[in-house]
Amino acid sequence: MKIAGITSLEDLPRICPLLSRYGNPQYGEDETRVVEVGSVRFGGDRPVVIAGPCAVESQEQTLRIAQEVKAAGADLLRGGAYKPRTSPHDFQGMGKEGLEILSRAREATGLPIVTEVMDTRRVEEVAEYADMLQVGSRNMQNYALLKEVGRAGKPVLLKRGMAASLCEWLGAAEYIAEEGNYDVVLCERGIKAYPSGEYSRYVLDLNVIPAVKLHTFLPVIVDPSHATGVAMMVEPASRAALEFGSHGLIIEVTARRGLPKPQCDAAQAIDTETLRRIVDFIHAREQIFAEREAV
Ligand code: PEP
Ligand code: MN
Repeated sequence: MKIAGITSLEDLPRICPLLSRYGNPQYGEDETRVVEVGSVRFGGDRPVVIAGPCAVESQEQTLRIAQEVKAAGADLLRGGAYKPRTSPHDFQGMGKEGLEILSRAREATGLPIVTEVMDTRRVEEVAEYADMLQVGSRNMQNYALLKEVGRAGKPVLLKRGMAASLCEWLGAAEYIAEEGNYDVVLCERGIKAYPSGEYSRYVLDLNVIPAVKLHTFLPVIVDPSHATGVAMMVEPASRAALEFGSHGLIIEVTARRGLPKPQCDAAQAIDTETLRRIVDFIHAREQIFAEREAV
């Protein structure tokens, strides 16, 4: 039922004519628009894995983790140089120095970089270093930032606001597309819902993945790290996300040995051995699909 004044999925053709399936029959009922970041293809033949630290904390830490995630089979490197923190007294990220460290990690490993931009005044600077710009959950409805990011000429990873409806999330993506940039990958990262905070950080809304695919042709990935906030839940959440049709994962990782405890989101960081098992799971699934096709 449509209630006057209340936005519902029926409004999607009006809210996002550029990105919804309704105005774009060329994508049919289930085709995905592939978003390319270097040679990596979101929405392509196989799920993409982004992995790395929550925050860039030092060159040694970032290079070590970058090398380990590369060896484990990750496709892109994540890491925040500008961090959205609950308290202004918490570590805020290394800023430009962090971006420089990320570009050295890219040089060393060949992995493209995904990093967050939080401020319209920093979009140009972050876009100089990043291969993909991340808009975080807290900024999903920062429309000035979305427009600026839409003009930056780089693919965008748009996280879902932690209390955002599907309409609001797709509406936010539309702001980026409206600036001429259709290279948007959506990312479900957990929502505030009962019982978030009791035994996990947020509630991972897996149901939204098929719903996203029903309404838009953009690729959608899952962040099991922020969604759960608990390292031991990251692997099962990753598997479940793939079963729900996720086009990829973004995962926070720490090195197996020898690095200090992360300053940011330590409880949800998995080690690279666990990451390797998740990548192996993806390969095993692909193998099964290929064998089924062959029959
Ligand atoms: C992050 O990925 O570094 C992050 C802060 O995530 P979110 O915006 O989903 O909280
Ligand atoms: Mn984090």
